[in-house]
This record gives sequence, structure tokens and C-alpha cells, in this order.
Amino acid sequence: MSNIIKNFKLFVNENEKAKMTALSVQRVLEDAHLKYVDSNYDLAIAIGGDGSFLRMVRENDFDENIYYVGINTGTLGFLQELKLEDLDLLIQNLKEDTYKSVSLGIQETKVQSEKENRYFKSLNEIVIRNSHLDTCHFDVQIDERLLEHYAGDGMLISTSVGSTAYNLSFGGSIVFDDFHTLQLTPIAPLNSKVYSSLRNSLIIPENKTVTILPKNRENDFLITVDGCNYIFSNVKRVDTVVNQKRIQLLRFSNQFVDKVFEKFLK
Ligand code: NAP
Ligand code: MN
Repeated sequence: MSNIIKNFKLFVNENEKAKMTALSVQRVLEDAHLKYVDSNYDLAIAIGGDGSFLRMVRENDFDENIYYVGINTGTLGFLQELKLEDLDLLIQNLKEDTYKSVSLGIQETKVQSEKENRYFKSLNEIVIRNSHLDTCHFDVQIDERLLEHYAGDGMLISTSVGSTAYNLSFGGSIVFDDFHTLQLTPIAPLNSKVYSSLRNSLIIPENKTVTILPKNRENDFLITVDGCNYIFSNVKRVDTVVNQKRIQLLRFSNQFVDKVFEKFLK
């Protein structure tokens, strides 16, 4: 029996397959003398796809003191380390305390608008667009230094974990998740005699803050945080950073390279 992980909670997607899987997972873990509890658990397990994993971490307010793992039930499941068939591996590693974990960087964002300051945490990304999907004009700064006068449909700012999600669809690069980077991926940047914006992604290290400074006349924004949409009017600035905050993900034999091949190319 593990000395560290003694109890668990399941975070289950709302479909039949996930619910059935959850019953099996609970039975197998309880047979191995782990206890199902509703609070103060050592291990949080998402059953479903990547959306379920993101929801679980959000529901735990990105708690740095517990372990997270996901069991995939059929969708892409890039963040999901295990399948139902791998439960024996999980049990064995828990019994002998031989599991490994990786630290994932958390993105923290502050949105300042005329009315309020709002704070968000994310595991994948934030996306900043005009709330009517009009062209956006804003300055982009990194640690208070001007990078560009941006014009285009918006900017996606992704962690390394999020690099294989929405970021990839907008032509961003894949980044190994043991880096704790932010990636600025422009969405349809304008480039002409009048406007010039970077066309490609820029990857920056942890602890550097990206600031978006909207031009005064067009500052109503739709900001999407790990897939959840928020509308703000009169945004003054948005600051986003990956600093020291991390969550712990249990990691099994999966090599990152194998995973990219399996999930995207095979
Ligand atoms: P969703 O619409 O099911 O997500 C779209 C796809 O992205 C799904 O196949 C999902 O996997 C996958 N995904 C999510 N996080 C990933 C990651 N870190 N690495 C690789 N793939 C990942 O919505 P959702 O499940 O609630 O996930 C929210 C995320 O979806 C957002 O944070 C955003 O990154 C992504 N998204 C992508 C697009 C796009 O690519 N056009 C559009 C909207 C949102 P599952 O199939 O296992 O859920
Ligand atoms: Mn999903």
C-alpha cells in the first residue's frame, strides 16, 4: 500500500462510457485498499477525454498538493496517461510508490477592464479576440518591452501543455511539456504596407509576462480560457505569465515523442 497516495476522487465525464469506466476504476482501486473520498484526497482521477482532465484541474483550483491522472475513454485524450487496460500498472505503481510525476506549468492571467480586475488560471491557453470578431489592434509587450503593434484576428497564448491543442490548429509549434513556456501564436495576422505583425509563433521562457494593450477605440474582447468564454468591455490590459505555480501529473511509460506520433500521425 502506498505511503503517499492513500485515497482518491473520480471526476467523470457525463457520458455512459465514462460512467461505466468509473465503476470499474472505483472497484479496482478499492480492492487495492485505496479509499474513495470526497475531500482531502491525494489523487484526482479524470475519466473521459482532455476536456474532463481540464475540468478536473479547474474544479480543484489547480491545487499543487495533490496528484492528477487521467483515464481515457475514447476521444483524443492527449492529457490522459492511461486507458482502462492500464489499471494494473497504476495499482502496481501505487502499491510500491514507484510512480513518476511531471510538473506542469500553470498560466496565470489578469484582465483589467474599466469595471473590474479578473484573474484566471489555465493549463492549455488563453485566446484574445474582439468580441464581435472584428480586427483587433493591440500592442504586445514582453516584460514591459514592446514586441509589436499587432493587427489581426487575435492572439492565442498557450502553455507547453496547450501546444498540442488549439495552438496546433492555428499553426503553432509543439513544445515538450517539461518546458514551462508560453507561446504567442497570432491568428490571421495582417501584413501589408500599413500593418506589420509577426506571422509565426514566438516561444518565451517561464517568468516572462506577456502584456496585451488594446488601442482605446476597440477594446471589447472575447477571452477564452481553456475553452471557456468570457466577454469584457473596455479592456485596459491583459497580463499573462507562467511563473512558479505547478501541478503534478502522474506519468507512466509514455514518451512524449511516441505520444505525438500516436495521437497525431499514426
Ligand atoms: P474540445 O472541443 O473537445 O477540444 C478540441 C480538441 O482538443 C479535442 O480533441 C480535445 O481532446 C483536444 N485537446 C484538448 N486539450 C488538449 C491538449 N492539451 N493537447 C492535445 N489535444 C487537446 O473541448 P475540450 O475537450 O473542452 O478542450 C478544451 C480545449 O479545446 C481548449 O483549451 C482548446 O485548446 C481546444 N480547442 C481546440 C480547437 C481547435 O483545435 N480548432 C477549438 C476549440 C477548442 P478530447 O477529444 O480528448 O476532448
Ligand atoms: Mn473534448
